[in-house]
Amino acid sequence: MNKYDCIVIGAGPAGLGATLTLGRARRKVAIFDNGTNRNRVTQESHGFLTRDGIKPQKFKNIAIKELESYPSVSISNETVIEVNKDVQNNLFLVNTTNNKSYITEKILLATGIQEVFPLSQIREYYGKSLFSCPYCDGWELRDKPLAIIAENDDHIIHMTKLVYNWSKDLIVFTNGHQLFNKIRNDFESKKINVYTEVIKNLHGDNGYLESIELKSGENILRSGGFVVPSFYRPNKFAEQLNCQFDENGGIITDGAGRTTANGVYIAGETEKAGPSSLMIAAADGNKVASSINMDITIDRF
Ligand SMILES: Cc1cc2nc3c(=O)[nH]c(=O)nc-3n(C[C@H](O)[C@H](O)[C@H](O)COP(=O)(O)OP(=O)(O)OC[C@H]3O[C@@H](n4cnc5c(N)ncnc54)[C@H](O)[C@@H]3O)c2cc1C
Repeated sequence: MNKYDCIVIGAGPAGLGATLTLGRARRKVAIFDNGTNRNRVTQESHGFLTRDGIKPQKFKNIAIKELESYPSVSISNETVIEVNKDVQNNLFLVNTTNNKSYITEKILLATGIQEVFPLSQIREYYGKSLFSCPYCDGWELRDKPLAIIAENDDHIIHMTKLVYNWSKDLIVFTNGHQLFNKIRNDFESKKINVYTEVIKNLHGDNGYLESIELKSGENILRSGGFVVPSFYRPNKFAEQLNCQFDENGGIITDGAGRTTANGVYIAGETEKAGPSSLMIAAADGNKVASSINMDITIDRF
């Protein structure tokens, strides 16, 4: 079986950024991806310097094309299902759904995160007219009649104040969560209405929101908005590899991607299980690749 210097799981900006740096450092790298990047639902990505407005798939295609220039890099569309440590040989065994196994010295987890929404119907509108990151999509929704859908005080306050910068025409939907009068009054002083009733349904056309129907049957016109999902890691690789976690569920690192498990590195959103951005994830990949390369260098020199 071929032995890799590093296997990268996940070809989002974090994994791709890391692989580019490792390929340029002449490391033998395999990168695996299964096309579940969470921004696949969106039409355009914003805010990545020199690529503002690019389609997520085009961004990925350009990155993969660049990687193809480096002969020590291989790219596979495979889902990794298991990663085990071979303690005796200080190696990792990576298994994929294609019944294939790979051996590597170092492993980089860059599998990102996924969302859980307050309402399953949000999925239909997510990436087209409902978003979770105002920095990513606030500009496109500026001055429109927007909904804020969130279910706890902190999330409601944070998102409403933030989005108010892009549109003053806001209505807050708490989907059953009762808000303190003080918060309601603050919002109402800015002409922001709050509906605490449970949401029955969302209505719209082809992912473009038109109205939000409450349990009472009242239908409120809105043409887009922001939701606050909760986030989770889509696998247990970090647990299986004995990485340590902090009290918030973040994977403990040395600040440069090294986890507490020797040979296991982490990059991008999967570290904190929280959202960031394409640019931050790509930069993180670049930084962590330097750690991996340095550690290989020290091991072998
Ligand atoms: C709707 C939406 C719009 C957004 N818009 C913007 C924007 O405009 N600008 C911006 O900067 N950011 C935007 N983001 C955020 C951006 O997508 C993320 O910050 C960024 O993609 C995180 O990068 P990552 O590499 O950590 O994870 P991801 O990009 O999610 O990549 C993780 C990769 O791991 C792969 N993977 C997962 N599990 C496995 C497995 N078991 N085996 C193999 N592969 C696996 C997935 O296929 C995926 O490609 C948006 C997000 C969403 C949801």
